[in-house]
Amino acid sequence: MQQMRKKFAPIALITVLLLSVLAGCNSSSQTEAAKEEEPRPILVQGPMPIEAENFADKLEDVSKEKSGTFDFYIGTVNDYPVIVSQTGKGMENTAAATAVAIEKYDPIAIINQGTSGGHDPDLHVFDIVIGKRSTNIGSLKTPHKKDGEGIHPKEWIPMDLMASEGSAGEDPDAENIRYYKGDEQLLKAANAVKDTHEKGKVVEGTIGSADVWNNEVDRIQWFHEKYGTSVEEMETAAGAQIAKAYDVPFLGIRILSNNKTNGGEYNPDTAAANQAYVYEVVKQYISMIEDK
Ligand code: SAH
Repeated sequence: MQQMRKKFAPIALITVLLLSVLAGCNSSSQTEAAKEEEPRPILVQGPMPIEAENFADKLEDVSKEKSGTFDFYIGTVNDYPVIVSQTGKGMENTAAATAVAIEKYDPIAIINQGTSGGHDPDLHVFDIVIGKRSTNIGSLKTPHKKDGEGIHPKEWIPMDLMASEGSAGEDPDAENIRYYKGDEQLLKAANAVKDTHEKGKVVEGTIGSADVWNNEVDRIQWFHEKYGTSVEEMETAAGAQIAKAYDVPFLGIRILSNNKTNGGEYNPDTAAANQAYVYEVVKQYISMIEDK
C-alpha cells in the first residue's frame, strides 16, 4: 500500500497541475470571448485631409494612431466604435491602408468615400454615387502593334489581374472587366438615408478607379459606354479588392466634385457634403447592426 501511494503521488500531482493548466486555459478563453463581444469598428476611408477631417471631427472620444503615412482617427459614433482612415490619394495608398486597417483593427465593414469626376452627363457636381459596383479602369492590355503602327487607346482591352494566378498578358480569360460588388447591407443603409443629402441627388452606380485623371471627354465617354462608369476617382476599386481578399463588407460612396461631360467645375466643398451624408449612412448602419 505504501508502495502504491508512493507510485500514485506523482500522478496525483500531475493531475492537479493539468487541471490548473486547463483552468488557466478556460479563463483565457473567457477573456477571448469577452474580447469577441466587443463590437468590431466601422472603418471610414477618405484620401485627402478635406475628405477625412470633417468626419474625424464628428467622432467622440478620439485618439489618433499612425502606421507609415496612414492616419487613423479612432473614436465612436453613438457609442459604437468608428475609425476614420486618411489613406492618402491613389490606388497603392488605398490598398496598403486597407490591409493595415484590417490587420490592425478588424473592421466589421469599410466605407471608402470622397470626391470624383462625373462620367455620366446626367450627374452634376454635388450628386452622390453609391457604388453598387466598382472597377479598376487602369487595368488594361494594349493590342499587338508593330513598330510605327501607332498608339490606339480605343482598342485597349480590359485586363482582369484576379482571373488566375498565371500570366494575364497571355490568358484570353483575363480579357474581362472585373467588377467588385458593393455590400448589400451597406447599400441598404446608404439608400435608407438618401433624403438627408439635399445638395444633389443620390443614385446607385459604377465607380471607376485608376491613378489617372481623365480630361479627354471622348475617353470619358468610352469608359462610360464600355464599363458603365458613373464616376471616376483613384481609390474605391483598390479598397474593394483588398476588402474582398479578407471578406470584409465594403462600399464606395462618391460625390461629384467635377464633371467634364457637362461643364461641372471642380468644387472642393463637395468633400464636406459627402462626409455629412456618409455620417448619416454610418449611423443607419450602426442601428441596423444593433437591431440584429
Ligand atoms: N483637384 C484636386 C486633385 C486631387 S488629386 C487638387 O488639386 O487638390 C485626385 C483626388 O481627387 C483623388 O483622391 C481622386 O479620388 C479624386 N478625384 C476627384 N475628381 C477626379 C477625377 N475627375 N479624376 C480622378 N480623380 C478624381
